[in-house]
Amino acid sequence: SVPAAILSALSAAARGGVLFKGGAALETLAKVRSFAFDKTGTLTTGRAEVGLIVAATGTEAAVLRLLAGIEANSEHPIADAIRRAADARGIPPAPVSDVRAIHSEGVTGTDADGPVWAGNLRLAARMGAESAALALAGRLDDAQTVVILGRGAQVLGGLSLADQPRATSAAGIAALRRAGVGHIAMMTGDRRTVAERIGAELGIDRADIHAELLPEDKLRLVADLSAHGKVAFVGDGVNDAAALARADVGIAMGAAGSDVALQAADVALLSEDMARLAAAHRLARRAAIIIK
Ligand code: ADP
Ligand code: MG
Repeated sequence: SVPAAILSALSAAARGGVLFKGGAALETLAKVRSFAFDKTGTLTTGRAEVGLIVAATGTEAAVLRLLAGIEANSEHPIADAIRRAADARGIPPAPVSDVRAIHSEGVTGTDADGPVWAGNLRLAARMGAESAALALAGRLDDAQTVVILGRGAQVLGGLSLADQPRATSAAGIAALRRAGVGHIAMMTGDRRTVAERIGAELGIDRADIHAELLPEDKLRLVADLSAHGKVAFVGDGVNDAAALARADVGIAMGAAGSDVALQAADVALLSEDMARLAAAHRLARRAAIIIK
């Protein structure tokens, strides 16, 4: 049977919006030595705002129209920002079919003129558009996430997005450090310039910021960390599912996160408040002391 101290910690955590799938996850959380956080949608709000829009050919409105079409059904926070930007300008999305997500890179699809793609510089490179994409990215903000729009090896345009840390992320990380958590890391698919800017704002050491990762890279980094003790991974996306499952404690963002992430996790954060995660960690430690 589950000890009373665990049950009461579980219910106190639940009142703070931190739902454990069982007592074992709470007991493991008490022993965690490293916390690794996804960035987009986890440490940041994921409610990015589109900043600059640049056209390589045609108009900026046409670039946004096609981007909104490609991103019409994606659940990625970037897609949401692009749809809102198009909507705010009264631009209806272009019809795009055969849409396919390429995790941690972008999306591909087909419009009236043939295959199109939207995503980061890695996707552009794979499409044979690396130098054109780099030139276009040079016209956008270096410290922001960029989305390049292309057709085959041709770059049509792109835009940059600003994603802000959640108001509670810095306090949550500071509280975990005060509680003596040895190691706090960021693991993101986003570009290094953006990861380092957000990491600096949140007090994460530069050496512990891992950027431009694929889902399997996050998985490998979590496995590496577990050589030094128990690891918690906090994430929201489909791209985080493998790392969430591999971590000793997988913690998923509850409301805005993807279903795949929630299923892979041991804990759901309903409030998205990182200070509450730190509080749940303290509850877990106290319960562990009581049952010893
Ligand atoms: P994170 O690990 O920070 O949550 P992801 O792995 O979800 O980020 O995405 C990594 C990068 O892949 C993004 O920064 C973006 O450049 C690109 N990307 C992923 N999905 C999309 C999409 N739907 N549209 C455009 N770019 C995308
Ligand atoms: Mg994410």
